[in-house]
Amino acid sequence: MTVTRFAPSPNGSLHLGHAYSAIVAHDLAQARGGRFLLRIEDIDGSRSRADLAEEFRADLAWLGLDWEEVPAQSSRIASYEAAAQALREMDLLYPCRCTRAEIAAAALTKGPDGPVYPGTCRGAERDFTGPVAWRLDVKEALARTGPLTWIDELAGEQIARPDLAGDVVLVRKEADTPASYHLAATLDDAADGVTLVTRGMDLFAASHVHRLLQALLCLPVPVWHHHALLLDAVGTKLAKRRNSPSLTDRRRADEDGRALADALRQGRLPAGIRLSEGLDGTP
Ligand code: GLU
Repeated sequence: MTVTRFAPSPNGSLHLGHAYSAIVAHDLAQARGGRFLLRIEDIDGSRSRADLAEEFRADLAWLGLDWEEVPAQSSRIASYEAAAQALREMDLLYPCRCTRAEIAAAALTKGPDGPVYPGTCRGAERDFTGPVAWRLDVKEALARTGPLTWIDELAGEQIARPDLAGDVVLVRKEADTPASYHLAATLDDAADGVTLVTRGMDLFAASHVHRLLQALLCLPVPVWHHHALLLDAVGTKLAKRRNSPSLTDRRRADEDGRALADALRQGRLPAGIRLSEGLDGTP
């Protein structure tokens, strides 16, 4: 059975891009007789707000979607810690004390999420005490798993290239975050039985990393569907704190949410907003 999910982080209101993402996940599950899950990704301690999660539910209902809600990330911390521990026991994690500025200065390449960490701390003594970031030794991890592939429904079969993102952070002790997005989302998708990971194509590169984590942690491998993005007039992706009225604003202004959802489905977008080209080449 197809199981999809929408996994918003309650650190800002949802906008039209989120609505589009939720509708894609919902409709793909519905068309295939499957299930559509809502998971609140609330482990960014300093920025997560419970009141926003409540607004998210109201926004989705207003769009005419129905869903099954699975436990929020904040209730799953033990599973993240266990996985991080398992990776540490495999000797695949190392502590890093570099600051953002140091990484930017030392980076040799630019990856999908900015400067790629060049592995400065990889060879140093593995002292995990204190406020450090725990990084995955991606080259060593890939050497252990061997070559990996994954499938995006729109882009086709991919050879996993987690190395392009560098040695990603999996735990942020320095920010008191028990797991990075990569580790938490990968574990949760497996625990929730998600078979089709739907999200925007801006997160395509993350899936290379997630595929590696699945292999290391013996998790089931889903199929991915990275959908096109809603862009503003200058071609920038809609963002939480920028350029787009929130769904909550629209709902409170008594706009018709179901009509908006149908318009998004049909590609009838509000003035100044357009859909990027998709991974299958369609607009
Ligand atoms: N919490 C992530 C976000 O809001 C979810 C990304 C995903 O769907 O994997 O961007």
